[in-house]
Amino acid sequence: MQINLPSLDGTENITAVCMRPDRYTRLYEALTCDTPVIARGGGLSYCNAGAGRGCRTVVSTCFDRILAFDAEKRLLTVEPGMRLGDLFEFAVRHGLYFPVLPGHPSITVGGCAGFNVHGKTQHNVGHFIDYVERFTLFHPDHGEITCSRTDHESLFRLTIGGFGLTGYITNITLRLIPLKGRSVLFQKRFVANLKEAVEVMKQLSEKVDVLYSWNNLNKTGDAFGEGIVFSEQFIDEETSARDKPFHLFTPDMRSVLRFNFYYRPSAHMECAVYYNMERLTGVEKRCALKATAFPIHGKEIYYLLFGKQGLREYQMLIPHDEWAGALDDLRALMNRMKMPLTLGSMKFFTGAQDLLNYRGDGICLVLDVPANRNSVEYFNKLDEIVIAHKGVVNLSKDSRLTAGTVATMFPEYERFKNELNEFDPKKRFNSALRMRIDV
Ligand SMILES: Cc1cc2nc3c(=O)[nH]c(=O)nc-3n(C[C@H](O)[C@H](O)[C@H](O)COP(=O)(O)OP(=O)(O)OC[C@H]3O[C@@H](n4cnc5c(N)ncnc54)[C@H](O)[C@@H]3O)c2cc1C
Repeated sequence: MQINLPSLDGTENITAVCMRPDRYTRLYEALTCDTPVIARGGGLSYCNAGAGRGCRTVVSTCFDRILAFDAEKRLLTVEPGMRLGDLFEFAVRHGLYFPVLPGHPSITVGGCAGFNVHGKTQHNVGHFIDYVERFTLFHPDHGEITCSRTDHESLFRLTIGGFGLTGYITNITLRLIPLKGRSVLFQKRFVANLKEAVEVMKQLSEKVDVLYSWNNLNKTGDAFGEGIVFSEQFIDEETSARDKPFHLFTPDMRSVLRFNFYYRPSAHMECAVYYNMERLTGVEKRCALKATAFPIHGKEIYYLLFGKQGLREYQMLIPHDEWAGALDDLRALMNRMKMPLTLGSMKFFTGAQDLLNYRGDGICLVLDVPANRNSVEYFNKLDEIVIAHKGVVNLSKDSRLTAGTVATMFPEYERFKNELNEFDPKKRFNSALRMRIDV
């Protein structure tokens, strides 16, 4: 059946055949056909990585079971459609934790593999790949292949962060870690600007378990990036908070409102209201782990207010030694173009960049604007700044990056493309993302 498959940001709507098999025979049938196929999890990537014109989308969400659990070795084998909220609940029930949790519990494990995602605190726990023990990949021309760091190692690395283009992951074994506490000590530090935010984060980075910021990028002069640094530390205390269930979020829900509510004045007001509410609610609280595990859960209205036209998100990673120069360029651009910036947020990253992974040593800055005529031009200018300062952009957040820009930003672009085409020369797996970045 042909249906509309939107990207989360609402800027890429694709009408394509979509199947949601619920048993393995149907899954393998769905994946074995003459047209190109692509896996889709929760569909919560900002770009359309789980659909493509002329491609068949195979949704994984019926395959969401736990297949094996070795409590002693802390190894959990699951189907790819398992949502992170369920993974979180299972782990915590067993005194364990999965440390790489991106912002929403509706994201699936398969989707995390597709983009080798990071969580709130990349600098001290790493990326999704760091907790993958092994997985089974199905490709109609290769059959089922079990990949790990010792078996099919290059396919292992190409698949985690390979945008679903090497095949369909049918099961995946994750390594959990011991749970350090069932509650967190949540603290806020108010900062005058982006420069101070980075300094405060540097001081805290070795001391806390979770660290990120919120910054108002609409402010100018010395107040550019005024904001809050959030930190969390696990504590072994029970809190009295009611255990609210996680709820579902999908790209269709995001676009239910017709009109965009964010313009320059309303974006200013939204940021001012958020900042002042945070000032009113105190600088420290103890809360249940579940309440802070997924920071966007419960705040989905933020996305809805962009309306049908959608939003554009830009997430850059700038090496530490380039940050000061990049900051000057960003400030100058933001002063010149005066876009309604509805979100600014930072995290620290460590690790080596490879293939097309959003990974490296440096500062991660994310920002949102409404999708309109100016936003593409604006993001193109951000690309120039990122390239000049040797940074990279998160492909899962961006539905407009061109092949040329990706090739310039990512030193291993050609290696990724060559390895992928060697493994799948017929392009049996294809998507809007693959076509756009030409890999
Ligand atoms: C509110 C929110 C907060 C977010 N926060 C973060 C964050 O903090 N850090 C971060 O890194 N990202 C973040 N993201 C982005 C998100 O984590 C990724 O885009 C993720 O890939 C989405 O997973 P999904 O289940 O929705 O998968 P989809 O968007 O449906 O698919 C993503 C990719 O995975 C592939 N895939 C899915 N299932 C399989 C399978 N079975 N086999 C092979 N490939 C498969 C798809 O083909 C596609 O290429 C956030 C997104 C949202 C909406």
